[in-house]
Amino acid sequence: MELAKRRGFIWPSFEIYGGVAGFYDFGPLGALLKNKIIQKWREFYVVREGFFEIDSPSIVPEEVLKASGHVEHFVDAMVECQKCGAAFRVADLAREQAGKDIEGMTKEEMDRFVKGHKVRCPDCGGELGKIFDFNAMFRTAIGPGSQRVGYLRPETAQGIFIDFKRLQRHARGKLPFGVVQIGKGYRNEISPRQGIIRLREFTMAEAEVFFDPGDPHHPRFSELAGEQLRLWLAKDQEEGKEQLTEVTVEQAVKAKLVCNELMAYYLALTKRFLLDLGIPNEVIRFREQTPGQRAHYSSETWDAEVLTERFGWVEIAGLAYRTDYDLSRHAQFSGEDLTIFSADKKRKVLCHVVEPSYGIDRPLYCALEHAYVQEKKRKYFRLRKELAPIEVGIFPLLNRVGMPEKAQEVYGNLKLKGFMAEYDDAGSIGRRYARADEIGVPYCVTIDHETLKQNDVTIRHRDTTKQIRVDIEKLPDVLKKLLNDEIEFDKAGKPIETTSK
Ligand code: AMP
Repeated sequence: MELAKRRGFIWPSFEIYGGVAGFYDFGPLGALLKNKIIQKWREFYVVREGFFEIDSPSIVPEEVLKASGHVEHFVDAMVECQKCGAAFRVADLAREQAGKDIEGMTKEEMDRFVKGHKVRCPDCGGELGKIFDFNAMFRTAIGPGSQRVGYLRPETAQGIFIDFKRLQRHARGKLPFGVVQIGKGYRNEISPRQGIIRLREFTMAEAEVFFDPGDPHHPRFSELAGEQLRLWLAKDQEEGKEQLTEVTVEQAVKAKLVCNELMAYYLALTKRFLLDLGIPNEVIRFREQTPGQRAHYSSETWDAEVLTERFGWVEIAGLAYRTDYDLSRHAQFSGEDLTIFSADKKRKVLCHVVEPSYGIDRPLYCALEHAYVQEKKRKYFRLRKELAPIEVGIFPLLNRVGMPEKAQEVYGNLKLKGFMAEYDDAGSIGRRYARADEIGVPYCVTIDHETLKQNDVTIRHRDTTKQIRVDIEKLPDVLKKLLNDEIEFDKAGKPIETTSK
C-alpha cells in the first residue's frame, strides 16, 4: 500500500481536506491498471462469452428499487456507541470480538449475542446502544423541489433488468443470452475501515445471464467441464469445518453441489479470470453463502474469494442464482409482460438469471498484492505484462552527446505505434531501472554510446534484469512479440553481459 500510494496507484480521496473513509482515487498508474483489468474482464465476458454491454444511469428512481426489493432489504444491522457515538456494523464487531459470523440473525438474536458476548465499542470501550437497520443506499432527489426520490444505484444489474424486453429482442429471442454492465456502484457502508477493500463508491462489472429454467445449459460447457474448483460448502461452514471440497466443474454439477451448469461454468470462468490477473490458484476458493448471508434475491450464492496478506480472505465476485425474482417483481410493479417464448416456441417462460457480479477495485488490490516482490536489493510489482500500466521505459544513458535526441526519437516512434511508453532521464541509470521496476514496467530500453555508432539499443527484462541488444528498426516488432509472449527474451536479440541491475 505504501508503494502503491507513493508511486501513484491509489490515494485516499479528498486528502487535503482530511479524507473521507470509503473513498479512494486512482492515480495515473492506478487508472491505467484499472482500465486494463476492465479490458480483461471485457475480453472474457463481452468478446469470449458474446454478451451485450449496456450503459445505464447511476441514479435510479425509487420505484425501480422498491420493485427490486432494495428499499426494503438492502439494509445492514447497525449499532452506535453510547459513549462516543461511533457507528458500526454489528456483524463486523461480532466477527472481530467474538470470532463468530452472525449474519442472518434477527435483530433480537443479535441483541442477545452482543450482550452475552460483552461486545463493546472498539474505539473507546463504551457500551453499545440498540441495534437497528440502516439502508445502505445513498438517497437523492431527482429535479428541484425534492419531488421525486432517487438513489445512487447499489448495483448495476437493475439497469439490465429494466431493459429486458429490448435486450431479448436484440438477442432475437435466443436463450441463454447475457448482458453486462460496467460502472460505478454506491453503498453507504457503515464504517469502512479496510482501505480499498470496502469503498462507498466502487466500480462493478456485472453479467446477467438469462436462461430458460427448464434448460440451464451452457452451450460451451465442455470447454470448462474439467476445470478444478475448490469449494467451501455452506454445510461445512455451518458445522465449523474449514475443509474445502475439490471437484471438477462437471462433478460439481453431477453431485448437485452447484445449482446448475451455468453457475458451475461461471465459477470456472471466474477462476480463469483471477488466474489471468496473476493471482495464484492456491489462494482462490469459492465460498457458498449460508442462507442467512444471502441477498434477498438469491437462492444460491457463491463468493469467489482470494487470500490476501493484509485483509485475509477477500470476496472478489459474488455469483448469485437470482431465479426469476427480478423479472417477476418488475413485471408485477410495472405492469409489463416480461415473459418470452421458449426455444421450441411452445411455452411462455419468465427467464431465470445467474449473475456473476464482480467488483474491479478488489481484484486490482489483490493483483497488486500478489505481484509485490521483495528481493534483497529491490522491491517491485511483478505484474503480468498485459496488466503493466507502463509497457516500456526509454532512457538515454547520458544527458549529452546526442543520446537524449536519439532517445526522444525512439520514444516518439514507440508512442506512435501504440506502446504505453515512459521517458525518464532523471538520475543514474540504476535509479531509473529501480523506479521502473517498482511500478512493474516489464521492459526498459536504453540509448547508449553504441546506439550512436551502430543504431541499436539495449532492452532490459524486469524479472531477470538480463539485457539484449536489438536494432532500432526492429525494436517495435520485438517489443510487441515480447509483450505478447511470442518470443523468448534471450532469443529476441543479442544477449549481453552486464553488471548494471
Ligand atoms: P455483492 O453484490 O455484494 O455480491 O458485490 C459484488 C462485488 O462488488 C463484490 O464481490 C465486490 O468485489 C464488490 N463490492 C461490494 N461491496 C464493495 C465495497 N463496499 N467496496 C468495494 N467493492 C465492493
